[in-house]
Amino acid sequence: MGRLLLQRREWLALAAGLWLLPPAQARHERRALFGSPADLLLPVAAPAAAADEVWRGLAAMNQRWNAWKPGEVSTVNAAFAAGRATRVSPSLRTLIEGAAAMERLSLGHFNAGIGGLVGQWGFHDDVMRPGQRPAAAEIAPWLATPPSLAQLEWQGLAVRSRNPRLQLDFGGYAKGVALDWALDRLQRAGMQDALLNLGGNLAAMGGTAGRPWRVGVRDPHGPGLVATLDTRGREAVVTSGSYERWRLLDGERCTHILDPRLGRPAPALVSVTVVHPSAALADAAATALLVAGPLIWRTLAREMGVDAVFVVDQAGRQSVTTALEARLNPPI
Ligand code: ADP
Ligand code: MG
Repeated sequence: MGRLLLQRREWLALAAGLWLLPPAQARHERRALFGSPADLLLPVAAPAAAADEVWRGLAAMNQRWNAWKPGEVSTVNAAFAAGRATRVSPSLRTLIEGAAAMERLSLGHFNAGIGGLVGQWGFHDDVMRPGQRPAAAEIAPWLATPPSLAQLEWQGLAVRSRNPRLQLDFGGYAKGVALDWALDRLQRAGMQDALLNLGGNLAAMGGTAGRPWRVGVRDPHGPGLVATLDTRGREAVVTSGSYERWRLLDGERCTHILDPRLGRPAPALVSVTVVHPSAALADAAATALLVAGPLIWRTLAREMGVDAVFVVDQAGRQSVTTALEARLNPPI
């Protein structure tokens, strides 16, 4: 029992959403990807080659899609800032188009052109150092000509931005796309049961030992869980939290999720969990609903076609949609 508890705490320390206790029947592999631990659980008999291929693909996405480390996205961002056209790979074009669709669907609450603002608030760093808020005058030009992926002009794979302030940042979307890609890959390799965790964002299919995967939602205000959930078929459980990655700015905790319309962190909701068959949609929606805040997240969720949502606000109040309510269990 002591060992199990210790193990659980270990997972809790690392993930916003998590699975509960790796079952002995599953093979567990862990790597560091997308700035967080990544875990793959497969049946013990699963061929190693299938897992290796998934890890290779995820590592490539992690390297190419990081906005602030040398890679394809940072090269494209430099071209946008200089007003130059640049050629992108087909997979980056697909990613950009997917993110543009999410921006439209979320009525601008999710905006992958937000990289400049994220940088101004100091979140393009592995270490979250205390500091000062950017001055209003520094943010004002960004708000005066707010970036939108609708400002991109395409000619085949060549793209330029009409707005030089547009800087791509897929921090709120790439993990979802990567989760979908990985499960597609495993399914094509004949796997029926798998669970993948990318920094607290989970996607699962099938189950383990004849049971569905049981996952937990971390309590944003403490060390435990607020709920558990058994996954059904193939689906993603994605959590956006303002409690994990934040900086102390002028003595105030500021989250890394920014409201594109106000140019500053979105403080009111501390955790938004979205359950949906598409991890990409769940990832964009969790970020968008956290930005939307307590008054309009339900309306925006309907707009975005996500009906299973669980929200915790700054005061610890929990809200859940009807579709998810019956599926949430109390924490163990
Ligand atoms: P996490 O990465 O912690 O799972 P999110 O999916 O919400 O959480 O992604 C947050 C990241 O997305 C930020 O670190 C930043 O790179 C980017 N981001 C911040 N605000 C927005 C926004 N309004 N729309 C799209 N991306 C955002
Ligand atoms: Mg997200």
